[in-house]
Formats: sequence, C-alpha cells, structure tokens
Amino acid sequence: MVLADLGKRLNNALGQLSKASVVDDEVIEALVKELVSALLEADVNVKLVASLRTKIRARVKKSLEEAETSGQGLRESNKKQIVQKAVFDELVAMVDPGTEPYKPVKGKSNVLMAVGIQGAGKTTTCTKLAVHYQRKGFRTCLVCADTFRAGAFDQLKQNATKAKIPFYGSYTETDPVAIASMGVEKFRKERFDVIIVDTSGRHKQESELFEEMVNIGNAVKPDMTIMVLDASIGQAAEGQSRAFKESSNFGAIIVTKLDGHAKGGGAISAVAATKTPIIFLGTGEHLNDLERFAPQPFISKLLGMGDMQGLFEHMQDVAMANPDKQKAMAKKLEEGKFALRDWREQLSTLMNMGSLSKIMSSIPGLSGAMEGVSDEDAGSKLKRMIFIMDSMDNTELDSDGLIFMKMDSEGLPTGLNKRAFRVARGSGTSVKEVEEMLTQARAMSGFAKMAGGMANASKEKDWTK
Ligand code: GDP
Repeated sequence: MVLADLGKRLNNALGQLSKASVVDDEVIEALVKELVSALLEADVNVKLVASLRTKIRARVKKSLEEAETSGQGLRESNKKQIVQKAVFDELVAMVDPGTEPYKPVKGKSNVLMAVGIQGAGKTTTCTKLAVHYQRKGFRTCLVCADTFRAGAFDQLKQNATKAKIPFYGSYTETDPVAIASMGVEKFRKERFDVIIVDTSGRHKQESELFEEMVNIGNAVKPDMTIMVLDASIGQAAEGQSRAFKESSNFGAIIVTKLDGHAKGGGAISAVAATKTPIIFLGTGEHLNDLERFAPQPFISKLLGMGDMQGLFEHMQDVAMANPDKQKAMAKKLEEGKFALRDWREQLSTLMNMGSLSKIMSSIPGLSGAMEGVSDEDAGSKLKRMIFIMDSMDNTELDSDGLIFMKMDSEGLPTGLNKRAFRVARGSGTSVKEVEEMLTQARAMSGFAKMAGGMANASKEKDWTK
C-alpha cells in the first residue's frame, strides 16, 4: 500500500479520537495537530495544510452545531463519527482536482501520449498502462518516440514483448515526430483501440524538449496527453507540472514510485492543486504495479478502510479472461445477490493474481493488517479465509453470513452462534478469524448490492467498465 507511514499516522490520530471518553475542543485540537504534523512530514505544502486545518475545524464545528440543533441529543459516539467524517471529507477534498479525465472508448483508436522528465518512469508506465487497458478488453499497442535516449526503444521492446503487447519503433529513424506519426498511423489502420506513445524526457536544452512534445502532439493528435511524474520530488510536483502544462496541455497525470517515497503525499496534493486529474499511481517496478486513482477510494485505503471499488476492478479484470464467469457474476450483481460462496470464489481467484498484499489491502478490515506484509504472508492469510469457507456446509455457503449470528428479539445480530464455533474448529482457525471473514464478506455483499442497484438503475448491464 502506498504512503504507508502517512496512513499509519493519520490512522493513529483517528484512533486516539475513538479512545477518548469525551469529544471536547481539546481532543479535537489534538487530532488536528497530529493530522497537520503527519501531512507536513509527507511534504504536503504548508499553505495547503493550513487551509485544511481551518476547514476541518470549521466543518467539525458546523456539523456538531447542526446535530445539536436537530433536536436529537448528541452522544459522544455520534460526535466521533461527525469528526471522523469531517476529517475524511477534507482529506478527500485535498486530493480531488475536481475534474474528470478522458476515458478511452471502444470502437475508435484512442491515442494516449506520455510526457515527463527522463527517469520519471515514463517507459515503464506506458507498458503498465498498455497491460491495464489490454485487461479491460482494449486492443492495445505501444509506440516508442524517444530517439534521444540510447536504449529507450530496447527497453520498450523488452517490456512490450514480456507483456505480449504489439509495439512500433526504429533503430535508424532519428526524427521522433516521424516515428510517432508512422507508428500511430500504422496502428490506427490496424484498428487498435488504445495506442500509447512514449516520448523523450531529455534534450540538450529544455526548450527543445518542449518543442518536440508540441510537434509530436500536433502530428499524432492525442486524445489524452498524460504527464508522468516521480513522487520523490514531493511538492515540487506542482512547479514541474505547471512548466509542462505551458507547452503540452496534458489532461491527466500519473504519479510514480509511490511505493518507495514518504514525500508521495506532497506530490499527490500538489498535483491536485493544479486541477489536473491523477488517473493512476505507480507503486512498483512490475507491470502490475499500477493502481487506479480516485480521491475517495485513495483516502479510504490510506486510512485503512479498504477500497472495495478497486478490489472489484481487480476481480473484473480476472473475470474478463473468463466470459462465462463474468456473465454469472454480472447476473448475481443485477439481482443484488452475493453469498459466501461467491466470496470464496473471488478469494480463490485473487490467489492467482500476484501482488497479494497490495490486493488484500483493498479488503475492508484488512487494509491496516496488510501493511508491510509480504506476499507470502498475505497468501497464507487468504488461504485461511478460504479454509474457513471450506468448513461450511452448502446452506451456510449459500447464505449471506447472518446464519452464523445470534439474534435478539428485534432480529438484530448480537454475536456468533454455534455454527461459527464449529467452522472455526473445523478449519483450524480462530473464532475471531471467522468473525473477521464474515464482516469482510458482509461488506463485499453490501457493495455488490449497491453496484447491482446502480447497474440496474442506469440499465448499464456491463459492469466491467
Ligand atoms: P523514463 O526515463 O521516464 O522512461 O523512466 P523509466 O521507465 O526508464 O524508469 C526509470 C526507473 O524507475 C526504472 O528503474 C524503473 O524500473 C523505475 N520505476 C518506474 N516506475 C516505478 C514505480 O512506480 N516504482 C518504483 N519503485 N520504480 C519505478
């Protein structure tokens, strides 16, 4: 998970709030102070942090006053929720540029052009992007228009070959504009859906680099120009992206190397301040280390609350490879059904997807626990969750999990029943693990119902987008 340290500190600060017996000004101020110092340490701009502090204070005050005057007595637990929500919403607002990026559409050739300084991770990111779109069912290809750096074409060729993505480039042609045009034209004729153009990141003079980008842009007419930016530059990201924006009007940003840098928070918030949408985060050197970025799921994951949307997308990617499974899943969602059996199937699919610790940090309730955990440990945790479900009978597996709960006279769950203890014994796990697994399955089921509801409401049957 990216930005682990910042996430931990923000989490701790909110944890202190949960522990407090009364929520008074002092407790709120201590929380704000801790948030501020965590954000500054992650290199978030001082002004941005100061404004966040003012906004959190104001929002908390307003929300508490509104709740007081609504006539209902305000309990401490409600106050905590109000404060937590205010913090959550303000953090989301801080990384939200308020604009939507271009989304490639099927049935036409979408040209995406990557720009950025050499070493930012452009070539690596282009291949990651190609893999991403290919998984989504787009016919995708790569064009290498970096003629300045010796070896750039070889690097792209190697990455593309590994990922089985068609590519275009030249060892002899020295004009990047000519290569870009020829490559894009060839792939357009061949009716590729997504054509990704990698450009050079360095020149003898900066002005030449910008001129070249403009010329390539004029030649290939990209539907979206993406700036690739290294997170380690922290809040300097704002200045760098503004400089690029003056010459190549890019419409989206990808921030790379968030796996290794504490300054990532600074880069992300600085970019958001330029009102350009971040579309992905690079979180490692491997082709799968690309995470979709959206403000709310990002903050949710950062605070250890999981990212169900992201998890669903992972599952959809896998389902794409198996159309029958995908159809069955889409039908279940439409009907708003998601039983433990479905959760088991999804988990066993996840086992084959690589980078388990990252994927599992998307599961609500597991986010925090997956921090810094190796793929091996994540795999064994996942296996235990599957063992639990393998100890269930058919009725239990086809249920939504409530079958394991004791109910009070009003039909509300008050704890686990004998079934849960039997399953824990049978699977060699603890009752606590069974309870956790049921909570996660319930969260997924709730999300599935919501997704199904949304799909029905919009009559949008294809939930893989
Ligand atoms: P370019 O000059 O902009 O095309 O950059 P490259 O794609 O050649 O990447 C430069 C270096 O950064 C390479 O060693 C990559 O493996 C590495 N890199 C790229 N993206 C990431 C990332 O998200 N995380 C990490 N840790 N390394 C990355």
